[in-house]
Amino acid sequence: MQYIAPLAKLVEQLRALPGIGPKSATRLAYYVLEMDHDKVKALTQAIVDAKAKISYCEVCFNLTDSNPCRICASQDRDTSIICVVEEPRDVAAMERTRDFKGKYHVLHGSLSPLEGVGPEEIRIKELLSRLYSGDVKEIIMATNPDVEGEATAMYVAKLLKPLGVKVTRIAHGLPVGGDLEYADEVTLSKALENRREM
Ligand SMILES: [Zn+2]
Repeated sequence: MQYIAPLAKLVEQLRALPGIGPKSATRLAYYVLEMDHDKVKALTQAIVDAKAKISYCEVCFNLTDSNPCRICASQDRDTSIICVVEEPRDVAAMERTRDFKGKYHVLHGSLSPLEGVGPEEIRIKELLSRLYSGDVKEIIMATNPDVEGEATAMYVAKLLKPLGVKVTRIAHGLPVGGDLEYADEVTLSKALENRREM
């Protein structure tokens, strides 16, 4: 069946989102058509606003609507310890544990030679420059416990050793091959507590 043009366009846009197949896209599109005008307007406005108002923190590269972000700007957090994660959603996961009182650095990916992701493609340079200018004593590598995350942790540890900074790795209470984002608070809390020096 051929959809009328505006509906086909809506389905196509929804399909471009992760985890949305053709069936889900069609279901959502029909749902949107049944929604009140005000609700549709609020939804589209929320998307446009989020995109317009949120950018990367110039210090830690987490998502923020103020620069530097609230965590980087906070006087109550320990500046001598930086937790390095792959993605902004990992910062949110770590924050949910309420155990970590230091700062963060978001790499925006992990090293993956097979997919052509080298050190230049992720925010490693920016992490290094933070170490030269600050009073950082410890770096916690909280990259995902998969092949790429481990490789990234090893690479950064090797890079930082000559600088005299202690590099630790979160412990494997986390499922191997899993995502930090999906770990429950207790598992993540334990992993942080049992981190080891690299
Ligand atoms: Zn920040």
